[in-house]
Amino acid sequence: MTPEGLQAAVQMDAADELAPFRSQFVSHDPDLLYMDGNSLGRMPRATAQRLQQAIDHEWAQGLVRSWNNGWYEAPQKLGDKIGRLIGAGPGQVVVCDSTSVNLFKLAVAALSLRPGRQRILTDAFNFPSDLYVLQGCIDLLGGRHSLQVFPSQDGIVIDEDALLDAIDEDTALVTLSHVAFKSGFRNNAQRITQRAHAAGALVLWDLSHSAGAVPVDLDGWGVDFAVGCTYKYLNGGPGSPAYLYVRRDLQTAVRSPIWGWFGQHSPFAFEHDYRPVEDVRRFLAGTPPILSLLAIEPGVDLLLEAGIDRIFRKAVSLTSFFIELFDRDLSSLGFTLGSPRSPDQRGAHISLRHPQGYQINRALIEEMNVIPDFREPDNIRLGLAPLYTSYQDVWETVQRLKRVVVEKRFEKFSPERQAVT
Ligand SMILES: *Cc1c(COP(=O)(O)O)cnc(C)c1O
Repeated sequence: MTPEGLQAAVQMDAADELAPFRSQFVSHDPDLLYMDGNSLGRMPRATAQRLQQAIDHEWAQGLVRSWNNGWYEAPQKLGDKIGRLIGAGPGQVVVCDSTSVNLFKLAVAALSLRPGRQRILTDAFNFPSDLYVLQGCIDLLGGRHSLQVFPSQDGIVIDEDALLDAIDEDTALVTLSHVAFKSGFRNNAQRITQRAHAAGALVLWDLSHSAGAVPVDLDGWGVDFAVGCTYKYLNGGPGSPAYLYVRRDLQTAVRSPIWGWFGQHSPFAFEHDYRPVEDVRRFLAGTPPILSLLAIEPGVDLLLEAGIDRIFRKAVSLTSFFIELFDRDLSSLGFTLGSPRSPDQRGAHISLRHPQGYQINRALIEEMNVIPDFREPDNIRLGLAPLYTSYQDVWETVQRLKRVVVEKRFEKFSPERQAVT
């Protein structure tokens, strides 16, 4: 036991301005330590009411009339609201499709603006789906481009100066995760964007692991394109549609590779020839999944109410507290820290590495009522979503982690992987 750590946790919770937000989320089990808000955020209480309204009134009673009572504009209206979380002025963000599909649309669009350049620069920390999509783009465009995957020496950080040096006059596009899904490393998006632009390249940021957790200022940083998902820190629900950002002055210069009727100038004119609408909606393809889309808004409202600066301050202090407890209680048990020590280089999740990481992760879930997730080869990933994670949650999670190892509870779990880890 480390009662002094617990005491500190109790004090920090008492002083936490964001503590009241915890009760805005549904929780059925007070003993459950949910440390996976960076994979699937908790459900806001208001979401159930919003969906009930959508089902009973908008769908059941309004039927097709509801398209003219808010549904048709929803991808853009909600996009503008998400824009407030990521520093994007109105008219530059739409909600649609999945992050992977949006990345595809924007990567193809971006490459079309730099026809003479051949290189796409990304890093080894990017989400594998992003790498697959980029490989697919290259294949689709005839194999004229090459993908440079910038390596990491330690698996925890990327050498930023060396990455900047890799951007040159053959680089068409620099596309990275703002916060890396595994180590939690946070790129200096502003500096990388500036350097890319100085070399004449475009940037496409994936905000899936940063939006709703850390400050993002797309307009201020001069970003060209961005994508992100809504089911992590935005708490939009499983498979909720993603969003994309296209800077205003680029919107008519680029086209989506998917010419669908929702991106058409006037979809209900049913013209035979495609004429894209003159704004970011040209990146919409088909009919949006309205119920899933409407479910996103209550979570975004909570984040806006809390304010991203306060959210980020708490993310820094939660992750710092976790690392403090790690140093004291876990580093002697075979764990190593898989995340950056500097808060300037982190998002809101922490990875712990351990040779028996997979089995420990299983034991936490099956026996200890803790839900982190596991990322190959040995990362136990703990998401500390600031709106509903307390300092006492962090303290208690460390105690349970300790017990799993000290009491060898992980040994009864097979290292064989389940389908979803
Ligand atoms: C979660 C995540 C995705 C998810 O992509 P989907 O197409 O929505 O499944 C993509 N990129 C990053 C960086 C992510 O963290």
